[in-house]
Amino acid sequence: MRTASLAILGGVVWAPGAAHATAVAVDGGMISAVGADADIRPLIGTDTRVIEARGGTILPGFNDAHIHFLMGSRGLAHLDLFGAETQEEIERRIREFNASNSAPWLLARGWFYSAFPGGMPTIELLDRLVPDRPAYLESFDTHTAWVNSRALEAAGLAPGAEPGILKEHVMDDFEKHLPAPSTQEDLESLRAGIRIAAARGVASVQEASRGLKQMPLYEALRERDELTMRVRLAFDMLPGIGIDAWARALDMYEEAARTHKGDRWISTGIVKAFADGVVESRTALLLEPYAGAAGGIGQSRWEPGELAAAAQAASARGWQVEIHAIGDRAIRDALNAFEACDPARRHRVEHIEAPAATDIARFGQLGVIASMQPQHAEPIKNLHEIWAPNLGPERAARGWPWASIARSGGRLAFGSDWPVVPIDPFLSLHVAINRQTGAGEPPGGWLPDQRLTLPQAVEAWTAGSAYAEHAEHIKGRLRQGMLADIAVLDRNLEKTVQQEIAQTKVEATVVGGRLVFER
Ligand SMILES: [Zn+2]
Repeated sequence: MRTASLAILGGVVWAPGAAHATAVAVDGGMISAVGADADIRPLIGTDTRVIEARGGTILPGFNDAHIHFLMGSRGLAHLDLFGAETQEEIERRIREFNASNSAPWLLARGWFYSAFPGGMPTIELLDRLVPDRPAYLESFDTHTAWVNSRALEAAGLAPGAEPGILKEHVMDDFEKHLPAPSTQEDLESLRAGIRIAAARGVASVQEASRGLKQMPLYEALRERDELTMRVRLAFDMLPGIGIDAWARALDMYEEAARTHKGDRWISTGIVKAFADGVVESRTALLLEPYAGAAGGIGQSRWEPGELAAAAQAASARGWQVEIHAIGDRAIRDALNAFEACDPARRHRVEHIEAPAATDIARFGQLGVIASMQPQHAEPIKNLHEIWAPNLGPERAARGWPWASIARSGGRLAFGSDWPVVPIDPFLSLHVAINRQTGAGEPPGGWLPDQRLTLPQAVEAWTAGSAYAEHAEHIKGRLRQGMLADIAVLDRNLEKTVQQEIAQTKVEATVVGGRLVFER
């Protein structure tokens, strides 16, 4: 066997329930051997890069199955309101940023609905905090924007029924009025995003929307030898265009995909649709009305039958389809759409926050992947005070039922949904197995019946997400012949107290055989 280009020694190669190897050899971009230190040492030559794992777990690099990587990367330069639990704290952060930053627009993201009385901020408040330039502040879930009067003026819009609040497609339409980043700025943002991903052990990401526009950015990074993270790009499946226009869009997508066939760094093959919005703004689509006086069943973006027809047309042409579906009605619509599709395409439902009891077993039955983001179920104030009361106790008791989906034969793929929450695979694993906040609340876990085992949760972040992108033959396990995408951790995960998983740090990240992060 050839001399290794890189070798990792003295660790615990992740393989729960099996005998543990301690070392991995890499030859170029692939894993060439996995074994005991004694097996790997003879492959070390003078040019071999050696990493000492010091008893830490050697894990397949994380594969984030659902992320908005460009959006998250762009947002790194904006005001960050994530984690601010009170209106007071949000006001403080806005005032501080407003005083220290002088861009033509004040851009921010990450606010929780629960910080405001009634679960929504007001235009008056923002006008008071930012009186003299347009301000655009996105909610943490990216489904609502809070704007001031100067922003409405800049866009030539009159205040609506809820002035200063833009939901769903109204928000999407508003985006054209925002300052557009240049290509150079986008590349700089992506470089910063890729550094963060590498530091968290993330080797692959699956971008959940607007992939067509992003493809040239990743190609530009690769040309400069700066693409050190793998990306799979989803192209948009949009409502309201009619089946003929959708067929023409697929023609165009197939043309764009052609040059990326077999590409292990920039790939596609998947289209993404939104079946609904989010529970917090009452735009998630429900079978029965929302709890409380406001009622309503949410918003459908599609005419009856339209979503299924579009999904089936794409599936018949070989495309995988992923559908954002949060409310029980949207989840049912997505599953119904996939019922008539070829299961070999591995269609996916994204998020799955509150499915009807009778739909849980359908993931396994139909071979539909449950793509979920455990940090969304972190039982923080926003969940207890806005999300759960909007649904009422019966539906809230089925919140993010990943264990029930797994028990009934469904396959899980996990990701972060960054920038909705930070890219933090270890906090994600913590919520998946403990159903607690980062601070350990509540003591027994929220809906503890839905706790996964650590191996199940790690599987969903690695092999599960590889399966969800048709890449399980090259990603998700540490074996000879797989891509050399590896994270070396600061501890042995299997010996770590379950409540302390979130404190895990990455010591080194290798992607395609290249060391891309070292602590
Ligand atoms: Zn998303």
